[in-house]
Amino acid sequence: MSVQERTYIMVKPDGVQRSLVGEIISRFEKRGFKLIALKLVHATPEHLEKHYADLKGKAFFPGLIKYMASGPVVAMVWQGLDAVKTGRVMLGATNPLASNPGTIRGDYALAVGRNICHGSDAVESAEKEIALWFPEGVVQYTNSQESWVFEL
Ligand code: GDP
Ligand code: MG
Repeated sequence: MSVQERTYIMVKPDGVQRSLVGEIISRFEKRGFKLIALKLVHATPEHLEKHYADLKGKAFFPGLIKYMASGPVVAMVWQGLDAVKTGRVMLGATNPLASNPGTIRGDYALAVGRNICHGSDAVESAEKEIALWFPEGVVQYTNSQESWVFEL
């Protein structure tokens, strides 16, 4: 856990179509995380197969790739204390039916195959996903609120 920890957060095609981009960004901003990379991408199935390589072989894998390639996604990197674990808590459980109200999926989604957002599940996978989606690198800058958000 560190204040420099980074996580890869993505608004999936259904989140973009349902106009939830601003809402999802807003939750991470207000929580105190720092946005260090952001772009709208219509990813290819090949790229998405790399992102979800761990799930290859699952029965839902072809449907997952088709869903994720069906429209643009918003790819983001957020930085801050315990960003990976806290990001997952903010997203809620994978299946929105099990996600608590107050979480993004618990407030805006119903079906596991249309759960509107992605968040890295470990620091190691976050770093892999950041490299995959942002080969150009992220943006380094100082956020003037940092000393009010963290005990620096
Ligand atoms: P996540 O880390 O919470 O996103 O969950 P996983 O890494 O286990 O799965 C990746 C994504 O695949 C999920 O967010 C869902 O969109 C989808 N997915 C996972 N399990 C299922 C399933 O049983 N059925 C369907 N249709 N999609 C699933
Ligand atoms: Mg996952």
